[in-house]
Amino acid sequence: MLLIFTSLGSAAAIAFAIDEGESLEGYMFSLNREVDQLPRTTGRRSFLIAASAAAVGLYWYVQRSEPAPAAKASADLWKKVSIVEFSDSGQRKGVVSVATLIKTEDEWKKQLSPDSFEVTRQAGTERAYTNENPNEHAKGVFRCICCDTALFDSSTKFESGTGWPSFWAPIAKENILETTDNSFGIVRTAVSCRRCDAHLGHVFDDGPPPTGLRYCMNSVAMRFARAS
Ligand SMILES: [Zn+2]
Repeated sequence: MLLIFTSLGSAAAIAFAIDEGESLEGYMFSLNREVDQLPRTTGRRSFLIAASAAAVGLYWYVQRSEPAPAAKASADLWKKVSIVEFSDSGQRKGVVSVATLIKTEDEWKKQLSPDSFEVTRQAGTERAYTNENPNEHAKGVFRCICCDTALFDSSTKFESGTGWPSFWAPIAKENILETTDNSFGIVRTAVSCRRCDAHLGHVFDDGPPPTGLRYCMNSVAMRFARAS
């Protein structure tokens, strides 16, 4: 009876130590402390059995609580970002916390046209004047072709004469990411979608008022959602 009690006590001490977020060293210390506190009358044999039972208990606990490698990897990828939601008429609906959208190359290829795939997933650039959005300046919102996040309001679109759809501001700073791009030996600022990391285009400081910025976008990186 004493033996069973001691075993359970040790196992419980281990479980408690781990639950409290202690390291394995912490657990080892707990086990030694348990041992030190054992009554002198406990025989060596009983003590060894108790320690073995505790080890089995620890093994069982760790096995049960350790996530599978695949689950651990996906947990690392599963990050949250805060973006602003908009209706198709450009009305701000509020900030939402969403999981970043991560897909394999094959999954993106299935979802996107070859041109959209090359631009958004491989940081490509469409040829100028090939697809300067057909929607002119109709009221609506330009959304990410990959994840539908709102990117630009058509009211900020202007004629840049570059052959690429150009805007003087994003619909919300939270919805895009700006990073330094050193490709082709030129320092530029690349613009991507905050939620899915789709490459969208670049931003330059030769735009019109009120910002003086020119967000030079690839039309195949976006879809136009006309205001209803
Ligand atoms: Zn996106």
